[in-house]
Amino acid sequence: MLKKYKIWIDEAGRWPWLWPVVACSMTFNPDNLPDKIFLDTINDSKKLTEKKRDEIFHKLIELSTWVNPQVFFGVWVVDNFLIDEINIKKANKEAMRRSLLELLRKINKEEIWSVLVDWNDNYIFEELEKKPIYVIGWDAKILEIWRASIIAKVFRDNLINTYSLIYPDLNLKNHKWYGKKKHSDYLVDKTKVTGIHRLSYKPIKKIIEKKEKLLLHVCCGPDATIPLVDFKQKYDITCFWYDPNIHPKEEYDKRLEAFRQVCEIENIPFIEWEYDTKTFFDAVKWVEKTPEKWEKCNKCYDFRMEKTAKLAKDLEIENFTTTLTISPHKDINKIFIIWQNLSNKYKLKFLDFDFKKNNWFLRSIDYCKLNNIYRQNYCGCVYSDNYPLKK
Ligand code: SF4
Repeated sequence: MLKKYKIWIDEAGRWPWLWPVVACSMTFNPDNLPDKIFLDTINDSKKLTEKKRDEIFHKLIELSTWVNPQVFFGVWVVDNFLIDEINIKKANKEAMRRSLLELLRKINKEEIWSVLVDWNDNYIFEELEKKPIYVIGWDAKILEIWRASIIAKVFRDNLINTYSLIYPDLNLKNHKWYGKKKHSDYLVDKTKVTGIHRLSYKPIKKIIEKKEKLLLHVCCGPDATIPLVDFKQKYDITCFWYDPNIHPKEEYDKRLEAFRQVCEIENIPFIEWEYDTKTFFDAVKWVEKTPEKWEKCNKCYDFRMEKTAKLAKDLEIENFTTTLTISPHKDINKIFIIWQNLSNKYKLKFLDFDFKKNNWFLRSIDYCKLNNIYRQNYCGCVYSDNYPLKK
């Protein structure tokens, strides 16, 4: 059988820190070649502007759709998730191999004369009888590969245009993210990493895996459950028990035991502070008769929060927050105001996270049932609305 097809394979998007890699396998139809002027234009591709490249791309697509096509090609995209799973070299090979398979649906494999591939990976494609020829550099051969490259590149650029609408902050039109210093400078924390970043790449991996320290004030075991389950994935947590508002001592001990139980289940280290009831009574003096969620409760949040912030500062823990926000019986806005002030005073980051969100309170009830964790039925102090010994 006459060997007549020369195939060129190239990729786009191999080196950046984000988005997929796109590969194209392409050949001309030797029995119906495009006209010479068009071929010369492509061969002069080193001088092509982006506009001209777009024109050629569209022309190549058009020529491939004719009844007797002048161009055959296959394109394949391997996304950043597979790149992270198998590494970029293998992902690049997979993109090239799948683009080749697409092309082989259109031409007879027995009629392939040669296959040229850009770069020196020396992949072996089982679908081919013999190994491709690998070429590097701008020589005559690479100019042929450039024809495949045009399709891969413009295809990739079109994807970037879409991504730039979804991720305007990445400035993709101007930055191709080839791992320059400005890109690592941009990735200051996890919030900057997007769904198209290649998470297995070292600078990004480092950011993802870096866990900031968090001192989490815990008001009771049940309220710590779901926040710990979720936050321990993101933070290096130390729990802090400081709740001398709880009365009487027997109740305090029960709640402390529940707290220890939860920390043990979630494998979180904790610090217990002393049961200095005097500090609580001093804090709420003159306002103890105010209703729940009012002045006495503000004072009660305040002194416990201050102790937490001070300890975080002493231990050089950069973030602090409290589980108090999970309870529907607490005034979250007042808690946030107190913590914001402390955050400014101690120069710490306060995580103003509302733990009530996403049904965490209801999930914490299930967690306690499942793990047999004691749940209290009044807020804590002797002035609580439902304090059992009030009568
Ligand atoms: S009711 Fe609860 S929040 Fe208010 S002062 Fe008593 S223990 Fe503290």
